[in-house]
Amino acid sequence: MTALIDPVTDHALLVICQQDPDLWFSNLPSDRTVARELCEECPLQETCIRVALDIEGGAAVQHRHGIWGGLDPVQRRRLAEETGLTHTPEGEAA
Ligand code: SF4
Repeated sequence: MTALIDPVTDHALLVICQQDPDLWFSNLPSDRTVARELCEECPLQETCIRVALDIEGGAAVQHRHGIWGGLDPVQRRRLAEETGLTHTPEGEAA
């Protein structure tokens, strides 16, 4: 698969979420709120969501991690169901 986001050349990605990547994978609700707010300002939000859905396919919520494009694992699973994604990564239960 060709990467839709190039973290080396895409300055927006470098500036916004690579400065503190732990924020996007934190279990603290306050951190996740900040991450979501930053995603809302990110010009890559739509692409980011598409990449997450492409990578995760129809994976179960417990196999999804972090905030991508402002969406948490439950929201991404719901979106995957709504868009008809049925792919489940090999070895994972949906
Ligand atoms: S939408 Fe959020 S997670 Fe995606 S690249 Fe932008 S800041 Fe990072």
